[in-house]
Amino acid sequence: MEPGLEKLRDEVFRRNPGESEFHQAVTEVFEALGPVVNRHPEYVESGILRRMCEPERQIIFRVPWVDDNGHVQINRGFRVEFNSALGPYKGGLRFHPSVYLGIIKFLGFEQIFKNALTGMPIGGGKGGSDFNPAGRTDAEIMRFCQSFMTELYRHIGEYTDVPAGDIGVGTREIGYLFGQYKRITNRFESGVLTGKGMSWGGSLVRPEATGYGAVMFADQMLRTRGASMDGQTVLVSGSGNVALNAIAKSQQLGATVLTASDSSGYVVDEDGIDLELLRQVKEVRRGRIAEYAEERGGRSRFVADGCVWDVPGTVAIPSATQNELDDKSALTLIDNGLVALAEGANMPCTQKATEHMIHAGVLFGPGKAANAGGVATSALEMQQNASRDTWSFEYTHDKLEQIMTDLHDRCLETADRYGTPGNYVVGANIAGFVKVADAMLAQGVI
Ligand code: NDP
Repeated sequence: MEPGLEKLRDEVFRRNPGESEFHQAVTEVFEALGPVVNRHPEYVESGILRRMCEPERQIIFRVPWVDDNGHVQINRGFRVEFNSALGPYKGGLRFHPSVYLGIIKFLGFEQIFKNALTGMPIGGGKGGSDFNPAGRTDAEIMRFCQSFMTELYRHIGEYTDVPAGDIGVGTREIGYLFGQYKRITNRFESGVLTGKGMSWGGSLVRPEATGYGAVMFADQMLRTRGASMDGQTVLVSGSGNVALNAIAKSQQLGATVLTASDSSGYVVDEDGIDLELLRQVKEVRRGRIAEYAEERGGRSRFVADGCVWDVPGTVAIPSATQNELDDKSALTLIDNGLVALAEGANMPCTQKATEHMIHAGVLFGPGKAANAGGVATSALEMQQNASRDTWSFEYTHDKLEQIMTDLHDRCLETADRYGTPGNYVVGANIAGFVKVADAMLAQGVI
């Protein structure tokens, strides 16, 4: 790392103690920015980078709610409004027991560069809660969401901050959040949240967009070597929104998807995952992944204590959570003949895992590029809301495809321009950074 950047990174660590995921995200960006800072030292000298690491606003609040047994429960809510140089803060809400400020800051920081890369006019933010939705009834989820929005509503708005879903937050939760926002403000302000249901301001393709986009990105990377997704054997982790749609798009493009997982283990299906059955188990019944193997009648096996990355495959789409793929798994995947990896999740690969794969010549699509299709389609949802319009599936899908192609090419061109051909990590970070930095410079000391 450049000495100027190293000094700044140490300062960020000191100012944000104990936030290991945020430290990791900052380190990844700083490692990649070396070539641009060498050429343009003014980015460090002007304090732009230091300002970028400090969120514009951090909101932490109490979320009291009553469970089905009449007991009062307390959770902690977060919204980190990181950067508004390019547009209103934009980024999802995560409901998971592991959530604390360091996770929200890592996700918000990543979001700044990802959103810039999409070419859409959106800033970066992220939020969520340490609320655990697992095992909660529908009524409990609703009461939690209503209480969460009772505080959040005063900080968001179509021109201010536009949240969406993430882990533990899907269309159901967005519905309860939107309903409460509408009730408090007495406004049908559809552009305040994205990921809405189709009949009340949602966009076609938004549910599919992140998983579809990640596979489109993998396909683009493979095409630089004269291959494509057709005929690949694909390893997917997770079985939520991103994973299910990554499986769907891989299959549409002629690949065989061998795996899926959740926090209880993974399934291997040598014939290829039966997506309809997996959707039944995970989306409709909200069941566990073992039920898929049971109902597949011997054609699939469930592995409770192992690692999904031990299964041989040519393409990997990690789509569960941060740091789910470590250096050991990376070496196993490389030994087993991995050709390409696109991060469907945010920061699923540890720094060492990423380095191993890049050194081994694996085509490596970092999350801030590969999973940007979700937020890009959220921005398309905002466009439809602003113009009171509804686009067809095909039209929106074509737009997503174009955005992913442009984004892929931008990463590649930028990597080339800065002397690291084929390195998508460098390309994505520099392209996103330069766009935000130049906007901040133009807007004065903000
Ligand atoms: P979902 O809640 O729909 O699904 C998450 C999946 O990952 C579930 O299968 C879950 O299993 C599994 N998972 C979560 N945490 C862990 C863990 N600690 N260990 C093992 N498995 C785990 O979330 P999404 O699909 O929306 O999000 C997945 C990833 O994609 C996240 O990193 C998110 O930030 C990223 N992302 C999502 C976008 C979107 O549009 N939704 C946009 C861009 C990125 P279980 O049910 O057992 O917890």
